Amino acid sequence: MDLTDKVVLVTGSSRGIGLEIAKAFAKKGANIVLNARKEIPDEIIAQVKSYGTKVVDFSADVTQVDSVKKMIEQIFTEFGHLDVVVNNAGIVKDGLLNRMSEEDFTAVLNTNLVGTFNVIRQSLRPLYKQRSGCFINMASVVGLTGNIGQANYAASKAGIIGLTKSVAKEAALRNLRCNAIAPGMIDTQMTRHLSEKRQEEIAAAIPLKRFGNIQEVAQTAVFLAENDYITGQTITVDGGLTMQ
Ligand code: NDP
Repeated sequence: MDLTDKVVLVTGSSRGIGLEIAKAFAKKGANIVLNARKEIPDEIIAQVKSYGTKVVDFSADVTQVDSVKKMIEQIFTEFGHLDVVVNNAGIVKDGLLNRMSEEDFTAVLNTNLVGTFNVIRQSLRPLYKQRSGCFINMASVVGLTGNIGQANYAASKAGIIGLTKSVAKEAALRNLRCNAIAPGMIDTQMTRHLSEKRQEEIAAAIPLKRFGNIQEVAQTAVFLAENDYITGQTITVDGGLTMQ
């Protein structure tokens, strides 16, 4: 796919990995739809606009079907097409199983997995009509390996991997692709809450001995959008952490 003038929606793009993915696609000449639950500050929008393409911010909570539906309608009213959907919005609510509340389990499943389903479901009909486009879903290595204190998060990300393969099989009939990225430990707000000691311990267990950066994940998203013959795959970006 040549990304020039394409329209790319990135959910959860007010900061971190999502914002970097938005910038990477803008650099390639794509128009960008930013999204988060609240309006994104002007200075962040300006950063993405600096690459010279059209950038809009459509707030929506991915857990709310009506909100997602409205966002997809706004995109088609504004641009008339949608070419790449990056399902990046995600949250963590870590805790050991015996102390994890039902609310914390459900909240993480709702944002990460149901939110991804909602965005795919609401954009599928117009994309079927277009007969072109791709989905890129943000999974995690813990969806492959599981993790202590992250039963909710790991379940949501394993679900995303299964969802990705199913969408890839169904939507291939209409020339749509669907892939996932499974990042390892990436330096963002989500991982900065870990103590310095814990971050050092984790880095020591990674073959490349460091956390990844947001650019390394964003580069992978662009690659998956550009390559028209990859579908149903989960690409790990983890410094070798989960290699077999
Ligand atoms: P951040 O917490 O920095 O950013 C999360 C983004 O999601 C924010 O823009 C947030 O905006 C948005 N968001 C949260 N809930 C919703 C919602 N219901 N609707 C719309 N937007 C929402 O996370 P990261 O950048 O670190 O992570 C991005 C993705 O990558 C996530 O899916 C995460 O699970 C995954 N990942 C991250 C790793 C890491 O090491 N950082 C490792 C593996 C995977 P707002 O709160 O304003 O709505």
